[in-house]
Formats: sequence, structure tokens, C-alpha cells
Amino acid sequence: MSKTQNSKPRTKLVHAGREPAAQFGAVNPPVYHASTILFETVAEMDAAGGRTYGGPYYGRRGTPTQFKLQEAIAELEGADHCLITPSGLSACTLPLLAFLKQGDHLLITDSVYGPTRAFANKILAAKMGVEVTYYAPTIGAGIEELIQPNTQVIFLESPGSLTFEVQDVPAITAIAKAHNITTLIDNTWATPLYFNALGHGVDVVIHAATKYIVGHSDAMLGCLSFNEAHWGTLFGTYATLGLHTAPDDAFLGARGLRTLGVRLAQHEKSGLELAAWLRDRPEVREVFHPGLPGAPGHDIWKRDFTGSSGLFSFELEPEYTVPGVHAMLDHLDYFGLGFSWGGFESLAMHAKTEGNRSVQPWGEGRGHLIRINTGLEDVDDLKADLDAGFERLRGSNQ
Ligand SMILES: *Cc1c(COP(=O)(O)O)cnc(C)c1O
Repeated sequence: MSKTQNSKPRTKLVHAGREPAAQFGAVNPPVYHASTILFETVAEMDAAGGRTYGGPYYGRRGTPTQFKLQEAIAELEGADHCLITPSGLSACTLPLLAFLKQGDHLLITDSVYGPTRAFANKILAAKMGVEVTYYAPTIGAGIEELIQPNTQVIFLESPGSLTFEVQDVPAITAIAKAHNITTLIDNTWATPLYFNALGHGVDVVIHAATKYIVGHSDAMLGCLSFNEAHWGTLFGTYATLGLHTAPDDAFLGARGLRTLGVRLAQHEKSGLELAAWLRDRPEVREVFHPGLPGAPGHDIWKRDFTGSSGLFSFELEPEYTVPGVHAMLDHLDYFGLGFSWGGFESLAMHAKTEGNRSVQPWGEGRGHLIRINTGLEDVDDLKADLDAGFERLRGSNQ
């Protein structure tokens, strides 16, 4: 049993998955690069072949650099196992491939991350003959009406990463269990700290660790955590697909994990302050931040989550047009224009849902949507930057 088994999450962040005595006292597990793993005897080699978890076997399946990160994340999630993958997207696609086969039915949230949607449509539906149905993220217990005899998997993401609908996860997982359906959730927004997915009945919890876990915008990483019952299916698919995560990136993930607690606390504080400030702006119609009292999804967020991260969006008043959005975003000093999020630096993005919604399209007559990744800068500087942006926005309408 690890010494952090019974400790609180922030203590686990610091201590889980480390074993200084095993590496000459060095505090962090080092980067082990390997393809070949050498064995002392034929018998040992044969035995390792049957080993399915935790031990070195062949470089593709990882070295202690990856294993220790897996151990730390599994412990944080309260899961028996974690597998890390080369990207967040591969952590989404791996369990879909593992649990679905031709003729099965998948229920997937309409608010799902765009590339996960593309995988469902272009690979699962178009090539594998899986039936794919999108559901409204706010459906809650109503999901029961969409269940078919061949429904095998429900894929949740909460909140959605552009429009931030919060799902009633316990209602959905209770129904899934009653129908023997496997549930997967993309929990990237909340991180393992702010939403305990397995505790809310989900079978497999997925993170784009690229985001808050790495936290510094310089490595790609995914992870999935789950209990023993799913080990065979998930590890089997993982090993068969030949997925391999670079040890350097695993090292950066472990490095990021150690400071996730303090980074998130600041992302949360600054994010809420920016969101409240934006809500009072005349140019803003609505703010989508589940942690903001009165915002859509806040009640379920308050019931189920223990914190909010720094990613949210806001809708401009519909009078503002595309040139205005460009004028506003093109000249920001601190908010970078770029994909991804969860790093230390603030980002802004013109968020577009076209082509990525079939059940609840971003309605006619709605204003442009801007997504903010709240970084670790001083929030006064961020407000001043946005304030100047709003001035350019207004100027473009004159
Ligand atoms: C970024 C993202 C992913 C994919 O992660 P990558 O590491 O970029 O592949 C998956 N889900 C959500 C919600 C994301 O924001």
C-alpha cells in the first residue's frame, strides 16, 4: 500500500508515484528511454510476457517513467489502474475502440470535443458500422429514452469545452448501470481534483493531460483511469494498437502534476473574477462559466464539483460582427491566440460550433462566442487587456 493511499488529494499530488529511494535519492522518477528491456534469464523473460501491468517488458509498453505517472493518476482518481496515452484525443478514442464493435450503438454528448466527434463519425460510424446517436448535454435522466437494445457505451463530457453545459452525471450513470452500459467521461475541464468521476458512477475517466496536468503548454499527453473489471479490455486494446507515450512527455506530466493544486486554485480565482467582470460588460450577452452563480449549469456544478478551472466562454451581444471579433482578439497583449488550454498563459479564441452540433445548434440570432483560458497573469492586467479589446470591438461597429 502506498503511503498516500489515505491522504487528501493535494498531498497525493505531491507524493503519489514517487520513490526516491529506488533511484539514488533523486526526488523525481527519471526519464528512462528504452526499446529493449534486458532480462537475466529465459524464465524471467517468459514470466514478464505474462505480466500485464506495472513492470517493464518492452519499451512500447513503457518504462518506470510512465508507470509512476500512471500510479499517481490512478491514486488521485481512486482507480485501480491508469493508462497514459500519447495525446488527449487518443485517450478518448482508445476506450471507444475497446468497448465498441460493429452493430453496437453509442450515445455521445452533442457538446463533445470536436475531434472526438470526428472520430465517432468518420471511424466508428463510417468504417466500423457503429450506430452513433448524439444527445443533448442537459438531457439528464431523459437519456433512458435514447437507449436501444444494442447500446453499449455512453460518452459524456462535462462541462462541454466551448459552451460549458454541465451534465447530470449521477442521473446518467445510474441509468447506464441499470442497462449494463459502459460510461466514459472526458473530465479534462475539472481535472482529477475538481470532479470525482468514478465516485459519480462513471466507468472510465479520461483526461487530456496536455491541458492542466502538463500545465505548461509544452507536451502532449492523455490518460484514462478505471477499475479492475475493465483492465483486460482496455489494456488489451492499448497494447494491440501499439500506442506509446514518450518518456520525456510522461516526465513533464509528472512534473506538472506536483503543482496542479496551486495552479488550479489560482486559475479558479482569476477565472471567476474575469467571468464576473465580463458579465457586467455592456458588450457581453451571457457568460458560460459553471462556477459563476446564476450561470447555466451552476446548480449541478455546485452539487457535484469541488471547484472550477479557468476555462470558460462568453457570448457577445449579437450586434457585434466578425470584423469586430477580429479587431478585439488580434491585438491582445497577454491573451495568446492558439488552441489547447490549461497552461500558465492566458488564451482567447473565437469559438465556433458550426458542424459540431446536431441536437442543440448554437441558435440563430446568437452573438459570437469567445473562449477564455485564464492564465496565471495578474488579473488586473488581463482585465485591462480585454478592456482595450472591447474598445476595438465597439469601434468596429461605428
Ligand atoms: C484538447 C482536448 C482533448 C484532446 O487533447 P489533445 O491532447 O490535444 O489530443 C480532448 N478533450 C478535450 C475536452 C480537450 O479540450
